[in-house]
Amino acid sequence: MPPFLYDAATVATPAVHDISPLISPRLAVFPGDTSFSFQRLLSFAAGHHLELSTIHGTVHLGAHADSPIHYHRDGVGIDRRDPLRYVGPAQVITIDGARGRRIRPADLKSVTISAPRVLFRTGTFPDPDRWCDDFASLSAELIEWLSERGAQLVGTDTPSIDPADDKVLETHQAVYRHDFAVLEGLVLEAVADGLYTLVAQPLKIEGADASPVRALLIPDPRILAAFQNFEGDPR
Ligand SMILES: [Zn+2]
Repeated sequence: MPPFLYDAATVATPAVHDISPLISPRLAVFPGDTSFSFQRLLSFAAGHHLELSTIHGTVHLGAHADSPIHYHRDGVGIDRRDPLRYVGPAQVITIDGARGRRIRPADLKSVTISAPRVLFRTGTFPDPDRWCDDFASLSAELIEWLSERGAQLVGTDTPSIDPADDKVLETHQAVYRHDFAVLEGLVLEAVADGLYTLVAQPLKIEGADASPVRALLIPDPRILAAFQNFEGDPR
């Protein structure tokens, strides 16, 4: 049999970082939101001919993409978002000392934005299974600043880009104005600052305000960078 055109023998595959937390009933969700549950309807252990299960839980589960309908009455559902927003060059930036406050442009003084997707590694929500309220958030001013530099997606290693108890959601509103994509709940602990290819597809759930994603970072920003002019029907 001839070898595949592209396989492990012909392409040097860099190590890939999995930046999604494990989805389990232990995974922390916003207070009042629906935890993940997993029900086995059929199982080998019970003498059935296969395993079959049902899941239940918030769409803002673990690593997830927020959709505009989550934060604006005129926003669209996640099924209407171009999937290529979530694929392509991305920059990881560590921000120290931001627990309990918003990150502002002044925190990025020495940083050059080099990719349209910017992921903030704050370390302020270190255990995805344990809720804490004082995680770092982003400022509306930061979204303006990133937009001026060509960014189109922000991601964070916390459950929200606004503070936990915020009801105004100024940063979500700035994201709506500038039509950014948003990823929350990423696990960036083991990832160094630098440029990568992000792959983090939301599911095509009709009208949903968010979807869990399986988020990966490939240590080469050029992979898939050519797919920026996707013209498929998002539906
Ligand atoms: Zn969310």
